[in-house]
Amino acid sequence: MNIERLPKIELHCHLDGCVRVETMYELLKEQGDIENIELEDFRNLASIMGECNSLIEYLERFKYPGKVMQTKENLERITYEVLEDMHRENVVYAELRFAPYLHMEKGLSFDEIMESVIKGMERARESFDIIGNLILIAMRHEDEENSINVAKQGEKYLGKGVVGFDIAGNEADFPPKIHEKAFRFAKEAGYKITIHAGETGVVSNIYDAIELGADRIGHGIAAIKDKLLMEKLADEKIALEMCPISNMQTKSVENMKDYPIKTFLDKDIEVTINTDNRTVSNTSLTKEIEFCMKEFDLNETDILKVLENSANASFANEDDKNKIKNIIRNI
Ligand SMILES: [Zn+2]
Repeated sequence: MNIERLPKIELHCHLDGCVRVETMYELLKEQGDIENIELEDFRNLASIMGECNSLIEYLERFKYPGKVMQTKENLERITYEVLEDMHRENVVYAELRFAPYLHMEKGLSFDEIMESVIKGMERARESFDIIGNLILIAMRHEDEENSINVAKQGEKYLGKGVVGFDIAGNEADFPPKIHEKAFRFAKEAGYKITIHAGETGVVSNIYDAIELGADRIGHGIAAIKDKLLMEKLADEKIALEMCPISNMQTKSVENMKDYPIKTFLDKDIEVTINTDNRTVSNTSLTKEIEFCMKEFDLNETDILKVLENSANASFANEDDKNKIKNIIRNI
């Protein structure tokens, strides 16, 4: 099976973690934010090129994309290019997530940000026939007022490019419950819900996320510690968005041989495989799948099951979902 040519689906992918390195380099130079550094050296600052020793080292990579994602033109271009890069490895459907409030440093309004990203996504669909959708993120360390506002301001884009709502950031100190009202509002408004939970070992965050109406869980690795929870995830068909290489780099599990992806699949949990941050993690869906086949003995049948899970768990509208399912069915 040629993994690169295999049609693929990306459900967990942060826009700011996927900015093309060459573009970031060009834009930072133009802005005068970097000087006297060669592209190849910059690549080491933007991506984890070898071993990653800590979460801090990982998070440091996000300092650069934030600087170049503050204008309409750049947001549109970056979104378009991320989808172009995905298309090059035959990703047929992608959900990109981002926190609109992180792109207001130079005065862009919420609507300007949304319209730019949506435009980039629509242009990519015209050029490459890749279907895209957006998930809005609220930062979990911000107060509830803030997350409610993200959901409220984004509401008018539902069905026009936006499909989901999520919270991200420091999971250990800021459990999903803090944002309960935001999730209730979002669910009611028609957003699909995914919540980063159980990435750093906190089982209760996964229970909370389910209670808050999560349709999918971001990462969910900690579920391995709780048999009942695993059964619940399988029974209720709550898909897990796993991101193996990112999880390895941030040391989400102490020993990678204990990474539970195979166990989850064997327990009929709807596992999906994703990149999290293509540039920061220096990865692609091809690499993630090959990594899982090599390290965790996933076979071709497992990979096809994962793709089927991704199609089923996608937040696409019915038309698009049928298109994606057909593509996967015909592999
Ligand atoms: Zn994530």
